Amino acid sequence: MDIAAVIVAAGRGLRAGGPVAKQWQTLAGRPVLAHALAAFASHPAVARTVVVIAAEDRERARALLPAGPLVVAGGATRAASVRAALEVLAAAARPPDAVLVHDGARPLVGAALIARVAAALRDAPAAAPAVAVTDALWQGAGGRVTGTLAREGLFRAQTPQGFRFAPILAAHRTHAGPADDDVAVARAAGLDVAIVEGEEDNLKITGPGDLARAAAILVARGEGAMEVRTGTGFDVHRFGPGDSVTLCGVAIPFAKGLEGHSDADAGLHALADAIYGALAEGDIGHHFPPTDPAWKGAASSRFLAHAGGLARARGFRIANVDVTLLCERPRIAPHAAAMRAAIAAALGIEVGRVGLKATTTEGLGFTGREEGIAAMAAATLVAP
Ligand code: MG
Repeated sequence: MDIAAVIVAAGRGLRAGGPVAKQWQTLAGRPVLAHALAAFASHPAVARTVVVIAAEDRERARALLPAGPLVVAGGATRAASVRAALEVLAAAARPPDAVLVHDGARPLVGAALIARVAAALRDAPAAAPAVAVTDALWQGAGGRVTGTLAREGLFRAQTPQGFRFAPILAAHRTHAGPADDDVAVARAAGLDVAIVEGEEDNLKITGPGDLARAAAILVARGEGAMEVRTGTGFDVHRFGPGDSVTLCGVAIPFAKGLEGHSDADAGLHALADAIYGALAEGDIGHHFPPTDPAWKGAASSRFLAHAGGLARARGFRIANVDVTLLCERPRIAPHAAAMRAAIAAALGIEVGRVGLKATTTEGLGFTGREEGIAAMAAATLVAP
């Protein structure tokens, strides 16, 4: 049987925290989606794979996914995304006999589970994995238990959900509106769906704790890999008229000011760039264009907090950061403690993870001539 896999990763689910959708967050050094994709791409029962992503994730997909699988833009709903992938397969020179539709946010799907669903399609037009509910089930309201439910005959649905190709294509073409999953679409079209034994570890990354749970399972399997990334940043701002300079979030009274579109905080700009650099997410000008009037005079702690949030959203924690300011004046030492505290607060890390140093350049160069201030920074990010 010629079986294709469709991996649905077009959702914008942000409940796992941060500005990055759950399927793009980092798990053991790779995006969640890359784990799911690898499980199908390497499976002997699966002949081809289609990944459905949102149009705005095209660049991300090119950078983070191995080359090969076909990628199409997702629709407005999950059902529309699956339909789009099915239509791509239907238009192929030779459409598949069957399709396995998998949620891109389920990275730990096992080869044995994929094989069980594929095998079940020999005898049934549709088959999907599920785990019997073993916990007692309650109804509740206002923080109180208001009733109990019988758990007999109840299952927690998982993916991949498998279907013979022609009937599921027809079911999606006639299905109107959204659907919780493809079993719902299939049943609405009258298809009989066999239940295949699911796997407890085949969890869906939904909330912030799920990523840590998935990472722990991978470590227990001997597949967990800690990823360490470093990034560096450098920035310069020119002195101009003014009576204070803002460096590393601290305003220091001075005979001059610093010129720049935002508050011209070279220290925080270098540090934000170090974090963006570690993530390979461009630089501060990419995220906060200087041509955008919204950032005129902005406090640079906002930029730094954004960079730190992006790191967290990608599944990294900030192990340490280190900033060096290069100037003859003003003197930095009296403000170093306040600067470290400001950086720690913007990033949500302990002060003990923030290094802050200053040096002169012995009267040499533009800093020596007191034409401006330079800053260098490094950041180390760790996942999981
Ligand atoms: Mg700058």
